[in-house]
Amino acid sequence: MVMELSGKVSLVSGSSRGIGRAIAIMLAEGGSDVVVNYMSNAAAAEDVVRQITKLGRRAIACQADVSKREACVEMVEKAQQELGPISILVNNAGITRDRSFLKLSPEQWREVIVTHLDGAFNLTGKLLPNMIEAKWGRVINITSIVGQIGNFGQTNYAVAKGGLMAFTKTLAREVALKGVTVNAVSPGFIETDMTAVVPADVLETVKQITPVGRLGKPEEVAAAVCFLASPRAAFITGTIINVNGGMYM
Ligand code: NAP
Repeated sequence: MVMELSGKVSLVSGSSRGIGRAIAIMLAEGGSDVVVNYMSNAAAAEDVVRQITKLGRRAIACQADVSKREACVEMVEKAQQELGPISILVNNAGITRDRSFLKLSPEQWREVIVTHLDGAFNLTGKLLPNMIEAKWGRVINITSIVGQIGNFGQTNYAVAKGGLMAFTKTLAREVALKGVTVNAVSPGFIETDMTAVVPADVLETVKQITPVGRLGKPEEVAAAVCFLASPRAAFITGTIINVNGGMYM
């Protein structure tokens, strides 16, 4: 890969595992130093840091619950002291708490909403002024096909991801003249811990209704993110790139 991101620092929320891990490593392959954020899995985050260090880039693991504003502010300040100004933000941290709507508790509703939406609000709010000052920045939000077409048992998750897409388009308009692009990558079903808990018969149906005929790989989502982060994508803002094997077009 061309080292298009040399000299940049990226923060990828929820990059200890799954899609975030693949994004963090691929951004480092492109030349970026990386802040590896995680919630509770320190060992997995340290492993990602090791992979990135092996590539000759700098990386640090930072614990922070992205739904907590103070924790985000502390993480960003500590990370910037060590690695320098962050100009690429990937809002990736996410969870599911699936229940059909009538059985969904207020806690399950809120937990999903605050992780995805407050998470993006907290990190973007803290980092955007730096990006504007530097006249260069990238905000990339990981949304989901579920926010576009809905899914049984996921009203909380669909609302969070739909909201993140609306956030993407609105913020893109606000900062377009400041050198900052804001885009979303919307995965279909990807092989990670999140989909490992989905029953086998449901995954079989997913494969049948996906034109490409399989689940996606975290690296296939990461490739779209790295393109959007690159200088080549400077004229792309407010868009949603679907990485879903054709399941929704
Ligand atoms: P995953 O394998 O379950 O990994 C989730 C990551 O998010 C972990 O690194 C976890 O940290 C972190 N995390 C969770 N809550 C957090 C919080 N409050 N603060 C900070 N970090 C937090 O999930 P994934 O499948 O890679 O999903 C990544 C993103 O893609 C999510 O936004 C998800 O909604 C979206 N997505 C996934 C799929 C799919 O099929 N997998 C499809 C569409 C969209 P710990 O390791 O410390 O727990």
